[in-house]
Amino acid sequence: MIEALNNLIQPLYTMPLEGVALWVLAENALIFFASLVIGHVAVKIFKSHAITAPPPPITSIEIVLAISCVILNSLITGLGVILWRAGIVQLRPVDGIVGIFVDCVVLFFAMDFAMYVFHRVAHHPLLYPLIHDTHHRFDNPRPLTLFVLNPFETLGFGALWLVVISIYHSTFVGMIVYLTLNVAFGLIGHLGVEPFPRRWLELPLIRWISTSTFHAEHHQDRHHNYGFYTLLWDRLFGTLSPDYTAEFQNAAAPTQ
Ligand SMILES: [Zn+2]
Ligand SMILES: [Zn+2]
Repeated sequence: MIEALNNLIQPLYTMPLEGVALWVLAENALIFFASLVIGHVAVKIFKSHAITAPPPPITSIEIVLAISCVILNSLITGLGVILWRAGIVQLRPVDGIVGIFVDCVVLFFAMDFAMYVFHRVAHHPLLYPLIHDTHHRFDNPRPLTLFVLNPFETLGFGALWLVVISIYHSTFVGMIVYLTLNVAFGLIGHLGVEPFPRRWLELPLIRWISTSTFHAEHHQDRHHNYGFYTLLWDRLFGTLSPDYTAEFQNAAAPTQ
């Protein structure tokens, strides 16, 4: 089963590039629509756990930016396939469940750190207006906001990913699991509602994993919470919001 999943990518090795383009576009469009549907359902279910005021009606600029993000993510995926065919990105054959777990852990923490650094750099006054201000124009997040990025920012995150997978030779299954987690964390961060229970911050290790409140706070306070999957780097570098615990408990508390 895992072997079959790992071999799913093989046809892309020899397929004409036009075919690869269609596949990566379809895959990214599917991720986009599935995220919006799942996000919409989550917002409805947890609507009594609002973190921020409801967002204003969707504007056409958000839709244009989100579509450009999906197209650029497809381009990054396609570049990944080309780098794999050129032998620069190498995929390890499946070598057991432990190996896949190690892949997920390595990709998760490597990308968490790289994205923390990229995000902090993007907040530098010289770069902020060029690459990151666009995302912060939508500070009452909704699921769509995950995709509402300046094209340079989308390409920046994509470039980080291509560098990491060029250095670390993961299994394809490990990549799929990591990429699924990546979308899940991105979506949770832009729900605008807190799906996790109050107990979250009392659980050992789990309390280090980011929540919806964690990223929603960054949208309200640009000087804190630059991380994505964990609180690790914000704690380490002193950028965790001092209000994080209080705001999480407030949002996670039942309000009805
Ligand atoms: Zn955001
Ligand atoms: Zn930011």
